Amino acid sequence: MSGIRETIADKKKRARRIVTILHRMYPDADCALSHKKAWQLLISTILSAQSTDETVNRVTAALYKKYKKPADFLAVPEEELQEDIHATGFFRQKTKSIRGTCQILVDEFGGGVPDNMEDLVRLPGVARKTANVVLGTWFGKNEGVVVDTHVGRIAERLALTWNNKNSKDAVRIEKDLMEIVPSKEWTFFSHALIWHGRRVCDARKPNCESCKLSELCPAAFEANAAPRKSKKSSVKRTKPQ
Ligand code: SF4
Repeated sequence: MSGIRETIADKKKRARRIVTILHRMYPDADCALSHKKAWQLLISTILSAQSTDETVNRVTAALYKKYKKPADFLAVPEEELQEDIHATGFFRQKTKSIRGTCQILVDEFGGGVPDNMEDLVRLPGVARKTANVVLGTWFGKNEGVVVDTHVGRIAERLALTWNNKNSKDAVRIEKDLMEIVPSKEWTFFSHALIWHGRRVCDARKPNCESCKLSELCPAAFEANAAPRKSKKSSVKRTKPQ
């Protein structure tokens, strides 16, 4: 373990050790959104904003039986699609995003999904997070790190991000992670941290006692009622030197 302040090189070393442990903990870490086609993954990811994967999977089980290709989302009245995705929340905005996205897929990509960041982030409702999910999960391309609420929170707790004054700034967090996590691990790392956030590193009650990352985590036991200083990391959450 490093001393009080970490250099970027220290952070890289620690990030590699964290990735190694994550591989042992979650060898099968993958995207939890059900999908059989690239456009389904894209639409499910749009639907997952402010919703849970369970809700999205429940909704899309029926949705993808009715809508069998991107053009089908343009063939029904807007209100009908709103009704079909209502349970995922923000259904009016999501309907606009899905229809706008499907229109471009049909007009410019023959109903397929582009396999590059530049074209993906041009689609309505698609920012880097969604694009990274599609590129990493479907196309097997490590173009970036998916920073959702779990990844952002755990990156902060593990002191793997330092540029962001606002911990909700996903783009800044992603930039830091891309600097210190090996690029071939970006997709796995995203999925594994999401799994870790759901199973161990809860937002309100992280289970540091059972966390295999605790010796590498500056926030270990900080959020719990009974701190255990003996196991606490010596890494401080400061800007790297
Ligand atoms: S030690 Fe605690 S705060 Fe750190 S990653 Fe594990 S569960 Fe989260």
